[in-house]
Amino acid sequence: AAYLKAIEDHNSTFNAYVAVTPERALAMAKASDLKLSQGQGGALEGIPLGVKDLFGTKDVHTQAASHILDGFKPKYESTVTQNLWDDGAVMLGKLNMDEFAMGSSNETSYYGPVINPWREQGSDRQLVSGGSSGGSAAAVAAWLCAGATATDTGGSIRQPAAFTGTVGIKPTYGRCSRWGVVAFASSLDQAGPIARDVRDSAILLKSMASVDAKDTTSVDLPVPDYEAAIGQSVKGMKIGIPKEYRVDGMSEEIEKLWSQGIAWLKDAGAEIVDISLPHTKYALPAYYIVAPAEASSNLARYDGVKYGLRVPGKDIADMYEKTRAEGFGEEVQRRIMIGTYVLSAGYYDAYYLKAQKVRTLIKRDFENVFAQGVDTILTPATPSAAFGIADTELARDPVKMYLNDIFTVTVNMAGLPGISVPAGVDAKGLPLGLQLIGKPFDEETLFRTASVIE
Ligand code: GLN
Repeated sequence: AAYLKAIEDHNSTFNAYVAVTPERALAMAKASDLKLSQGQGGALEGIPLGVKDLFGTKDVHTQAASHILDGFKPKYESTVTQNLWDDGAVMLGKLNMDEFAMGSSNETSYYGPVINPWREQGSDRQLVSGGSSGGSAAAVAAWLCAGATATDTGGSIRQPAAFTGTVGIKPTYGRCSRWGVVAFASSLDQAGPIARDVRDSAILLKSMASVDAKDTTSVDLPVPDYEAAIGQSVKGMKIGIPKEYRVDGMSEEIEKLWSQGIAWLKDAGAEIVDISLPHTKYALPAYYIVAPAEASSNLARYDGVKYGLRVPGKDIADMYEKTRAEGFGEEVQRRIMIGTYVLSAGYYDAYYLKAQKVRTLIKRDFENVFAQGVDTILTPATPSAAFGIADTELARDPVKMYLNDIFTVTVNMAGLPGISVPAGVDAKGLPLGLQLIGKPFDEETLFRTASVIE
């Protein structure tokens, strides 16, 4: 009830929720109370969570923050959210995001931008909460839920977490089932939590992760007790610092944050080693070929017939065109066009195939470093703190917006786990995050190391 009241009072300020489900929340909470009073209940019994609008929630608003899914309420529940409810969690509602998870500022949402709960010292300027999981990050930061589900295709959990002083982990590809989650780029998409601290994110991921017969890319490995990793010593651990992440024009504040993180881990007994990931500079351009290619294919299903919006036309082809022209926003249309172009005969080899090869090289860079005994890699999470809403420079130049993902996309390209943990503030008092990258299915090392930085 307290969380529902907070949403009622403050959601209009932040625009974090796109749908609230109070009756359902209170009924779930009541059932949890009963269980707890009988000494029963799951690991998350009665814990109120927000759910990114990308997760299919049975009979509840699921629109991926897009106009084209108007009125869509699935007849199924995503595996990840079902896992949470099975452990006793309570759903408060659906959270705002960039349309189809395409964006880095939550400004491509059909429902308008999310407002970051943080402000620069001495300024009222409204800031973005990051994207695409901007609603999840803002809701957690503003206490409008105890934790939230999110997804990360190229940074969409870690970047908004960094912008809002929260913790976000993208687990290894295959750790969580993608079943029932609206697809963006299927070979990159992963679900994960955004939470207030490292411990909460460990507890949430434990519940979200599972192998699933309905997603053959989910992996049949035991899900460890992540919480147990927190507070364990990092003495003797080898932490890699990749020189290629010291990008041109890196701000002094980010440099300082990174050095501070290195110093903390050194003090805790870790060994710091310089490493090289030579193909890093190709990750962003390759990502912006692979992700739109897969998106253009995944989004072909929105044709005005099967889901949501239908704009009538003089024949079926005309109806398809009108529905897609009206239903998809500008950024989604841009991605579909890029994706269709790079997959088309004549360009496929030059762009798509080339990008796939680059992807393999990026993956090998990480494999080499881990084979040399490195346990985890420390980098900044983002090139800057949260920026202003409707930044005219970024709006004019989508490629500048894409540069936000420079430190995060490599992790998705290689399928590795990555966590963003709050590590300090900039000169204006805005939160900044550091990123830890781990070996496949070694999220435990990330939680353990992140708890030293936190
Ligand atoms: N900002 C990136 C993009 O727009 C990442 C999005 C994501 O991780 N879902 O593609």
